[in-house]
Amino acid sequence: MLGGYYGDDSPIAAFATVPGGSALTLIRCSGKGVLDLAARVFSAGEKLLRAKGNTIIHGWILAGDSPDGTRGEKIDEALVSVFRAPRSYTGEDGVDISCHGGAATSAAVMSALHAAGFRDALPGEFTFRAFLNGKMDLTRCESVLELVNARTQKARGNAVSRLSGVLENEINAVKKMLVEALAAAEIYLDYSEDEIGADPLEDAGMLPKRELAQEALARLRALAESWRMERIYQEGIPAVIAGRPNAGKSSLFNLLLKEERSIVTEIPGTTRDWIEAWVSAEGIPVRLFDTAGLRDSGDPVEAIGVERSRRLLESAELALYLIDGAQGIASEDLAFIDEIAALQKPLITLWNKIDLAPLPSESARETWGKRVLGISAKTGEGVAELTAAIAGAARETAGGLDGAAAVGTARQKDLVEAAAVALEDALLLADRGEPLDVIAPLLREAVNLLGEITGEVSTADVLEEMFEKFCVGK
Ligand code: GDP
Repeated sequence: MLGGYYGDDSPIAAFATVPGGSALTLIRCSGKGVLDLAARVFSAGEKLLRAKGNTIIHGWILAGDSPDGTRGEKIDEALVSVFRAPRSYTGEDGVDISCHGGAATSAAVMSALHAAGFRDALPGEFTFRAFLNGKMDLTRCESVLELVNARTQKARGNAVSRLSGVLENEINAVKKMLVEALAAAEIYLDYSEDEIGADPLEDAGMLPKRELAQEALARLRALAESWRMERIYQEGIPAVIAGRPNAGKSSLFNLLLKEERSIVTEIPGTTRDWIEAWVSAEGIPVRLFDTAGLRDSGDPVEAIGVERSRRLLESAELALYLIDGAQGIASEDLAFIDEIAALQKPLITLWNKIDLAPLPSESARETWGKRVLGISAKTGEGVAELTAAIAGAARETAGGLDGAAAVGTARQKDLVEAAAVALEDALLLADRGEPLDVIAPLLREAVNLLGEITGEVSTADVLEEMFEKFCVGK
């Protein structure tokens, strides 16, 4: 729990950049009385108080005033950007302080702000306030977090389209259709048949504006489906490189890393048994694992490594099996390929070292694999085709959908799905000729669920849970 003050308008401050070791750091401040408080610790305080919104002032950050009224000592030179409500990110008055990025310097500036009366911002509190002040709906807020975490340009692009309102507009368009259908249904409920004349519902099943509800359902289903691909853009797809020792696994891993390293790369930990890194396959983040060679071994230590590789393979969503072309295919390779095939996950079989040994003809591969790509981890030949094959396999897992409006979080997807279920039920009841007074509440439920996605309908605990996932300073 974040406690009572989530959602108040007290003055908050937070580092928007990671302080320490950088040339500059940005401290963001927002809330009631921000300009007055900031002026107390700024050499150009008077100027700051008179400044128009969206202007920048140069000066010095000072330690707080002494009790005798003399100004405190200089702490750092800084630029202060002034924002006036409602024209700011949060919709409140705000200042962004751009000071020097050293750990000691930024800490001293922050403690001057604390002394002036700012408190530390909670995770996502700036965006939370932007939501409360009507600057953004919830889909846009969530896309801010997506932007912070985007691993590839494609993921970033999708998040930006949600930040520009593509998803919000789609949800609102679908909701409008449902509200229209609901309004039509409610007219029937409010007036008796005599009052509105002949009953046109006989043709339309028991639901007026049925075609609107049906189109809404189709669009909701497409949105719910879109999560399969979006999830992959955000979470990435775990892919394991497997093969016998010396097949060229590490060489391929390093080559992909060099050529396709995704923009934001983390290497969360290396172990004796495998290493991992993020690469991008046509914008799809791939979490690539280079495993210990697969080999049936009598050596107990090596056997543990091989066992770990097997387990990694089991949890992966894609396997790249490498054959050492220079050695030719061995019976052990066939056994491992069978083993992976039995796991029923996408498998790309690779004939490595084509610079030394050409890929055998399709007829020669009849017994062990028609779909094999020839590559050289040494010269890079075939790697573009491999990247395309990895992206293709990921899209296939996701059902191949890559539409314009897509949901960006599991929360959004769950609500879209729930709304679709309510709507499906409504249409089903209408087909059965059930009366409108049992159908209308389902339409209303769907409308409310869509309202939850954008935040029109929201509860405090849902909001808190959502914003807790944000980083401080956002
Ligand atoms: P791993 O044990 O499967 O990780 O295999 P390595 O990546 O360590 O490669 C084993 C040996 O094969 C090394 O000497 C590599 O330089 C060599 N090698 C890997 N890929 C190729 C390739 O495509 N062509 C050639 N000529 N040599 C390769």
